[in-house]
Formats: sequence, C-alpha cells, structure tokens
Amino acid sequence: YTGLTKYYDTWYYVEQGRLNWGYTGLTNYYGTWYYVEQGRLNWGYTGLTKYYDTWYYVEQGRLNWGYTGLTNYYGTWYYVAQGILNWNYSGIVQWNNENWRVTNGVATEKVASHIVCIDAGHQAYGMSQKEPNGPGSSVMKAMLTTGSAGIVTRQPEYELNLAVALKLKAELLNRGYQVVMIREDNNCPVSNAQRAVYANNSGAEIFVRIHANGSANTSVRGAMAYGPSSANPYMASNVTAASQSLTNTLLNKFCATTGLLNKGVLLDDTMTGINWCTIPVTIIEMGFLSNPDEDRLMATDSFRTVMARGIADGIDAYFGQ
Ligand SMILES: [Zn+2]
Repeated sequence: YTGLTKYYDTWYYVEQGRLNWGYTGLTNYYGTWYYVEQGRLNWGYTGLTKYYDTWYYVEQGRLNWGYTGLTNYYGTWYYVAQGILNWNYSGIVQWNNENWRVTNGVATEKVASHIVCIDAGHQAYGMSQKEPNGPGSSVMKAMLTTGSAGIVTRQPEYELNLAVALKLKAELLNRGYQVVMIREDNNCPVSNAQRAVYANNSGAEIFVRIHANGSANTSVRGAMAYGPSSANPYMASNVTAASQSLTNTLLNKFCATTGLLNKGVLLDDTMTGINWCTIPVTIIEMGFLSNPDEDRLMATDSFRTVMARGIADGIDAYFGQ
C-alpha cells in the first residue's frame, strides 16, 4: 500500500506499507490531490508545492484546480492558472482589483489601469439642430445624424454600435481597464460635441468612437478609421499625434483580428466628434452595412464579439500591452 491512511484524527502518508516521515509533496487519494508534509496531511497549508517538474497551488491541504490568480511564495508573487504555476505567461493580471504586470509567471510590478471612454455612435434618432464642428469654428453641423442601416438585415447602425460597445466594455474590464461609456442604451440625445466634451472630462486617456459605414456602392466593403490631421486647427499637436497613433494601431489590430479588409486611415479635420477632443480620439468604421455580406456578418452575435476583441487588441497595442 502507498497512499493516505487515517489514524485517530490525523492522515498519514504510507509508502509500501511504511509510514514515510520523510515525504513532502502531493499524493492522490480517491481522485483528490492532497498536500503531505513530512508524512502528515497538512490541512493548514496554502501555497505552492512542487511535484515532479510542476508547481501546483494547494489550498488548505488540497490541490485547487480552480484557482487562477497570484500567490506569494517566499516573498515572490507567482501567477497560477487553474492550479498550476504558469511560467509561460507574460501580460497583465487582474487580482484583488489591482493590475499586475507578470513576466514569465512572476509578478514584477503593480500597474495603474488605463481608462478608456467608449462612444457607441448615434442613438435612436438624429438631432438636426446645429453645433460648431470645432471649438471657435463657424462651420455648423447637425448635432447627431441618424446613421445607416443594414441593406439586408435592416439592423440600425446605432444598435450595432451599441452591441459592439457593450461587448468592448466587458472585454476591456476583463483585461484590467477602467471604462467610461457615453451610452448604454439607445436613448441618448447627446450631440457629437457634447460626447467629446464628456469624454474629455471623464478622466479617460483615450476616446474610441464606434461606427459602421455605408456607401451607395453595395460592393464596397472593409474597415476604416478616422483621425485628425497634423494640421488640425482645433487640437493640440500632441493630441493629434497620439490620435493618429491610436487610429493606425487600432485599425490594423481590428483588421488582423476580424479578417476584414483594411481600407486604411482617413485624416479628416471636419468631424465634430474629433475636433472637440482634448484627449486622443479615433473613429472606427467597422464595416459596410451597405454591403450584404458585411451586413449579415455584423448582425451575428459571434462576429460582434470578434469585432469587440479586435478593438480591444488595438487598445492593448496602443498602450503597449
Ligand atoms: Zn455612424
């Protein structure tokens, strides 16, 4: 016999019929792995233990396959995924409401979480009243346009934008970001300039505006993104430069993740929702609702999830994560 046996109130580790006081490690008993320390099952132990070449996470004497998070072992914090120390992992780990940078399984520093403001473009109806398209501008534009609709599915753009924005919010929270939402339902009569000012004052570091495209030509397809030019008269040069970096990075990652055609970046200084921004901003036009294939694709919940992940990948890349 090799395994555990109970004697009075204590479980002992027996090896080939003899109690082995020298054994420290894991042992399996009826499907559960227990932590034995010097021949006795140690119910009080919580932490790492090495078994053959792998480090396992033990909680109160039992291997806990459900644990994912950090654990301290002799002064160093390690990253455990599903009960096993994961030496291959490098990235940001959320733990106890804090973000930690993990490098090859070791938590190296606590990092502040980035704050992202998300605007799901449009809302249930347009706002035809006019507002200046930039601070001090004499050019007046409608406060909010109605947006487009799917040529086949008839899905309104404002619904699609919101669905992806809500998925993006969940994805970013999961990746350790803080998120500010301009709207979380389809009733949000707030103009493009007002949304930009709200984002500016929200504490967010970047403003990501989500839209879908439309064209009279139904064969036009693909994703594109808008940012300000370097000569934008309303924005500070450091903000236009950062906006261009955000726009390029986000579009490239979005297309890589979604597989949508990359139609490139347009630098445009006529857009109200860009010109009023004092933080880096981009407008992603995810795909063409006027193209039957992209309309059908963007109507599916699964592809909306992929698009949200693509935008999150772009935000990760912008922040260098
Ligand atoms: Zn739009």
